[in-house]
Amino acid sequence: MSERQFETAEDQNSLEAHLATTAGPVEASLEAQPGLPEVLPTAKDAKASVLPNFFDFPLKDLEAVLTGLGKEKFRARQLFQWVYQKRTHDFDLMTNVSKTFRAELPGLLEFRLPKVVQELKSVDGTRKWLFDVGQGMTIETVLIPSKDRLTLCVSSEVGCNMACRFCYTGKQKMKRRLTAGEIVGQFVHAQDSLKKDGLRVTNIVFMGMGEPLDNPDEVFKSIKILHEADGLGFSRKKITVSTSGIVPLIPRVTEAGVRLAVSLNAPNDEIRNKVMPINKRWNTKALLEACRVHTEASKDMVTLEYVLLRDVTDRIEQARELYQLTKNIPCKINLIPFNEHPGTEFLRPHQEQVVKFQNEMIRLGAHVLLRKTMGRDIFAACGQLTSLYEGRPEKLMPTPSKSLTTKASAETTVSLS
Ligand code: SAH
Ligand code: SF4
Repeated sequence: MSERQFETAEDQNSLEAHLATTAGPVEASLEAQPGLPEVLPTAKDAKASVLPNFFDFPLKDLEAVLTGLGKEKFRARQLFQWVYQKRTHDFDLMTNVSKTFRAELPGLLEFRLPKVVQELKSVDGTRKWLFDVGQGMTIETVLIPSKDRLTLCVSSEVGCNMACRFCYTGKQKMKRRLTAGEIVGQFVHAQDSLKKDGLRVTNIVFMGMGEPLDNPDEVFKSIKILHEADGLGFSRKKITVSTSGIVPLIPRVTEAGVRLAVSLNAPNDEIRNKVMPINKRWNTKALLEACRVHTEASKDMVTLEYVLLRDVTDRIEQARELYQLTKNIPCKINLIPFNEHPGTEFLRPHQEQVVKFQNEMIRLGAHVLLRKTMGRDIFAACGQLTSLYEGRPEKLMPTPSKSLTTKASAETTVSLS
């Protein structure tokens, strides 16, 4: 039962054939991103020749910037409170800050947030923002409502180089890593917008565009900023970093005190090698061992994401195999029915197969959840809005078509990626 099995040799061949169509480019792109190194553009590209951006700094770093400029250290705390807690960038309103310092501020710091290009609201409460991060590049942020949560899904990079075969973002090469300020900015905009409706973000997940552990310095800096008591004061335990499996950097998630999610997406190395090229570098054994170490150190469960691809990862034998693979890890498994996108080689699983898979996992004793997908009418799947906008901006104006809206309300199990 614990061994991976294909029903017949023919099944295995059809899987091979199914996956073989794009094997070339996947191999090539894996080679182009070993260890996620210097060849990739860095967040510094976004910082060229401008004043320091206030939103890029945790409190201590901002104190250092200001003292380096000959200013008092306590000004940093005052600015944090005004900007993040009282939400003003208007220096004239900062009444407890000396007039001299207020007059100097525009020459010392910039208060630069990504520009909102579009905000979309779904019939099911999902919201999505499209941000301009300069040089014609856009990113997406999605708010996903559930019974007692409003979870903000933030992006960490423009595009992604991990080349996961089922992922729309993975088809768009990574153009730039985001700065901490651009990550914090996604939250600030979302929170401001929700505030008008008497709501607030309760959870943050790094599950938007990009691989957060391919941009670790800026991602962990943004987490510090989000957590700062004199600023946004967001609880670390309400923040989840999701990774495709950059194993050596998982201890940084533990250190940061945030929750860990891992995109496992396959019940064994053979399939994972094919759908997630990163597995050739760090296989499931190494990945799950890193998860186990994290759970021990953090005393927290890890979330394992598992995308159900029709006839590739959604079979009952694979549910059993997945259970065997993960049964010794304190984890909850999120099943995500594949969200189809233009040009994909995969199919969405049949609903009855999804239920069978979930039931088998439950029968075996796994802690398993089916991720309900929302926001289809606003293209809430990872990377879809951006590509539509970049390709054909006029198509998004004003709001999505009625037919898509209707589909979203009827569809309750599609997955948000
Ligand atoms: N790069 C990180 C976080 C962003 S991807 C990671 O891979 O974990 C967020 C989640 O969306 C991952 O679990 C990924 O497996 C899933 N995903 C990507 N494309 C999808 C699709 N088309 N349908 C369903 N889930 C998808
Ligand atoms: Fe990148 Fe995550 Fe998409 Fe893989 S699933 S290509 S790591 S965004």
